[in-house]
Amino acid sequence: MYARPFIDSLDFAGNGKQISAQVPFAELPRLLDVLDNPQGSLHYTLQGRLDNQGRPVLDVSISGRCQLRCQRCLNGLDYVIAHQARLLLCDQASLDMLEDEEEDFDGILADAHLDVLALLEDEILLNLPIAPKHEAGACKVADGKNRQEGDQHPFAVLEKLKRN
Ligand SMILES: [Zn+2]
Repeated sequence: MYARPFIDSLDFAGNGKQISAQVPFAELPRLLDVLDNPQGSLHYTLQGRLDNQGRPVLDVSISGRCQLRCQRCLNGLDYVIAHQARLLLCDQASLDMLEDEEEDFDGILADAHLDVLALLEDEILLNLPIAPKHEAGACKVADGKNRQEGDQHPFAVLEKLKRN
């Protein structure tokens, strides 16, 4: 079983720690909900540091290749994940303040038991296209008529199995 990593986020940032690992998509249930299939994995690096104002920061870098579900034909759609973020570790008060300002980075609540995979899921889900689609003309099922035939297909297979 995959060991789910947790970090003490302030300690991680203050001591400049780093994690770098590969995670199968199968370990990311909330992400799986929007994927066409669980195949593949992503690579991430989490680097803790203090920024030039001495504030604790996590630099997140995520890369990988997954299959989203095309919202037009419901088939798999190749998608490259390449995401980088700088997350400022905050207490609740400064997090509220940060949300009122337009900053070039996001804040997250400092947590002594931060769930790294949940953090990765949040970062990826926030940045995925809302309604991914193949490029025009690239869908395997182009219109309603074909889709209906596609839907009947599994039953046709069943029929065949029954006869054999
Ligand atoms: Zn499509």
